[in-house]
Order: sequence, then structure tokens, then C-alpha cells
Amino acid sequence: MSATITLVPIGVVEEEVLSHVGTALTEVFGRQVEMVAPLPSPDYAYNEHRRQYLAGAVLAQLRKCRFPGEGVLGIVDVDLYAPNLNFVFGQASVRGREAVIALTRLRQSFYGLPEEKDLLLARAVKEAVHELGHVYGLSHCPDARCVMHFSNSLRDTDFKSYQFCVACRTRILEVPH
Ligand SMILES: [Zn+2]
Ligand SMILES: [Zn+2]
Repeated sequence: MSATITLVPIGVVEEEVLSHVGTALTEVFGRQVEMVAPLPSPDYAYNEHRRQYLAGAVLAQLRKCRFPGEGVLGIVDVDLYAPNLNFVFGQASVRGREAVIALTRLRQSFYGLPEEKDLLLARAVKEAVHELGHVYGLSHCPDARCVMHFSNSLRDTDFKSYQFCVACRTRILEVPH
């Protein structure tokens, strides 16, 4: 396994988001980030009753593609959910290399507010680092400023930083990968 992280746009994803997330992942994980050609929109994951997309189905699709890299992060601009949850900002596979983040609920416009590009970029970076943190073996962290703190709402996301606290940083260096 090569020491890279593979970034996978799924459907249409703004170039600015992809480049921003890629730069941050290189900084935080110290890995080269390689972007691959976009996958088609995840129609296979759509639930017409919920009008949302099942995050687990997107992870399964990413797994099937057998992308190279230590970690594989999909970015999609649809509303994702998981069973028993109203929605998820992102999800990581439990023992795999795949993670996915969804941009839809990170946008101010989703809540009827004017779009704020910088806020969207900052949130996307935090969710991306968080989900890949799970891929690298980290669990949720009690430190509210740590990127591995669980975000119940965007208020939590906006409060936390995009970086690991000292404890999580230490732990990630100890994880064999
Ligand atoms: Zn988490
Ligand atoms: Zn932490």
C-alpha cells in the first residue's frame, strides 16, 4: 500500500472544494494526495422515501473501485444518511480504507442562508480530516477543539479546528499503517 490518500469526486464537485481539501489532507496527514477522475452520481444509493442517499452504499461503491492509497476519501454533493440517523455529514468504513463526506448540509444555503464559500471550505476540510481520522484508527475525542470531536451539529463543526489534539496526534503516529 502506498503512502498516499486518494481523493474521489462523486458526481459534480466544485474544483475549489477538492483542491482545498487535498491541500489540508497533505498538511494534516503528511501524505501525498492524488485525485482520480470523478465517479458518476450515486443514483444506486438513492432512497426515494427519504429523498436522501445511503452513505454505506457509497462506501461499498468506493471499495469496489479498488483505488490505490492508504486512505480513500469520496466527496459528494448530496444529502447522505445512515440507518437510524436523520443524516450524516460523512461516514468511514469500519475496517476499510474508505470514507465519504457530503457537502450538502455544510452549505449555509441548505438552511436558507446566503452561501458562504469560506465557511463551506472550512467545514469540508474538518469533515474530511475527521472521517479519514477514523480510517487511520482514531475514535471520537472529548476535546471539543479537536477535529475528532463528534459533530452533532454545524455549531460543533464550526467550533472545532481542522487539526488533531495532542492525544489524537500521538495516537495516529502509533497506528501501524
Ligand atoms: Zn466520527
Ligand atoms: Zn483529539
